[in-house]
Amino acid sequence: MSYSQRAKREIRRQLQKILGANRLLSGPEQMAPYGSDSTKIFQPPELVVLPSSVEQVCQIVKLAYSLRFPVVCRGGGSGFAGGAVPVYGGVVISMEKMNRIIEVNPDGYSAIVEPGVITQDLTLEVEKQGLAYPPVSTIGGNLAHNSGGLKSRKYGVTKDYLLGIEFVTGRGEIVRTGHLAEDASSPAVREPWESSPRSP
Ligand SMILES: Cc1cc2nc3c(=O)[nH]c(=O)nc-3n(C[C@H](O)[C@H](O)[C@H](O)COP(=O)(O)OP(=O)(O)OC[C@H]3O[C@@H](n4cnc5c(N)ncnc54)[C@H](O)[C@@H]3O)c2cc1C
Repeated sequence: MSYSQRAKREIRRQLQKILGANRLLSGPEQMAPYGSDSTKIFQPPELVVLPSSVEQVCQIVKLAYSLRFPVVCRGGGSGFAGGAVPVYGGVVISMEKMNRIIEVNPDGYSAIVEPGVITQDLTLEVEKQGLAYPPVSTIGGNLAHNSGGLKSRKYGVTKDYLLGIEFVTGRGEIVRTGHLAEDASSPAVREPWESSPRSP
């Protein structure tokens, strides 16, 4: 996507206001790792941002919506579908700083985690409590792909473990589903996956 230099400066200025200067990457060497995934398709981003809260993600998406620049969310960059590659340019929102395991509840067989948690870290954490979480990569990427992994034949894929999501819409609004919704009996957004080829 092409922008005027002026528009680029304004986008950068506003993002810096939201995140602070050290959460913005703009050098070609710094940004190169964010231009590809396991497909090896390469398209360098125009900026990379590293938010650390849902509120910051909302503000970034609202800004993108109002100034009309593309954003691409990135977890671990291990996907085989090119979904994390910024093929239209724009801003990559990397989830690497949103990597907190907020709560593990062994009685409820549940955990609340941020999207950038590396799945292996969650697996190790819940194993301490006698639980298991078999899928791979980051939680956000797993959700977006409804991933499985080697253990999925026996233990199921990501949707089988999902109780609720807090997500940011394309207009920067927060939506909560399932156990995180006010009405905890609401579904955890399973419908789009019912026809997924990875569903067992
Ligand atoms: C060695 C290897 C083996 C694999 N084996 C399997 C397998 O057996 N079964 C299987 O199902 N899959 C498998 N995969 C693919 C797996 O589905 C993906 O690698 C993984 O789910 C992607 O997670 P990620 O965090 O790396 O996401 P990324 O590659 O960074 O992103 C993947 C997609 O998710 C989106 N995304 C990421 N985070 C968020 C977020 N927070 N919010 C919204 N969207 C987001 C991205 O925009 C992109 O569209 C394998 C991958 C590898 C590398």
